[in-house]
Amino acid sequence: MISIMLIAGNWKMNYGLKELYDFSNTFKSFEPSKDIDLCIIPPFPIIKEAKHILQETKINVGAQCCHYKLEGSFTGDVSPKLLSEIGCDYVITGHSERRSNHLETNAYVKNTVLSLINKNITPIICVGETQEEKRKGNTFNFIKKQVSESVPIINDALIVVAYEPIWAIGSGNIPSEEEIEKIHNLIREELNSIPYLKVIYGGSVNEKNCKEIFSIPSVEGALIGGASLNFKEFLAIYNSGVKYLNSFKR
Ligand code: PEP
Repeated sequence: MISIMLIAGNWKMNYGLKELYDFSNTFKSFEPSKDIDLCIIPPFPIIKEAKHILQETKINVGAQCCHYKLEGSFTGDVSPKLLSEIGCDYVITGHSERRSNHLETNAYVKNTVLSLINKNITPIICVGETQEEKRKGNTFNFIKKQVSESVPIINDALIVVAYEPIWAIGSGNIPSEEEIEKIHNLIREELNSIPYLKVIYGGSVNEKNCKEIFSIPSVEGALIGGASLNFKEFLAIYNSGVKYLNSFKR
């Protein structure tokens, strides 16, 4: 069953085994909601251990990127086949830091999505405009192109698209609620032939602004960088999402 929301924490190139055990301690009495999937996305070398120590918790584990080929001469790259073997639930693809530092193009991202689906891993596909595109008033067209070139039309598996304006990542600035709503609706329209689609927001989400972000109708979760490194804050963000969804049940 597909949950209503996804809250995922991207640790980026931070932390190791010690912090993984700290995370597991902080979440030892974690009560998962069936409405919200929680996922941590640590660096590659500790994914297997994360899966192992979190196996009783219903907390998912993801990877930050992957190659689109299942094997071959690609020094330093990691295959979706191996990520599937070690139990990865989600993989981020097309994060802006990968697009700019490692030349992940839209075509590359689209191919990774196809391979991930083939290995039963849910892709989290990042899209988002630069400050410059925003300044030129080109956000709408930019996102439209990025989405159509990066996201394949898949009709039998969950696809997650994370709208992450690059200027909002790690800056403390976020778009207005109207801007987020408008872009999420655009993504949904562009991909309306995908039956299992989740559109989440990323960029400076924290404990203080998450309530407001979750209450935007088109937001189905969050991809969180900086605030996911503070485990108490990450848990508080999850609980805020649960509280928001529970408010509809009364
Ligand atoms: C990210 O890099 O995906 C991200 C959302 O980072 P932050 O939450 O730190 O802005």
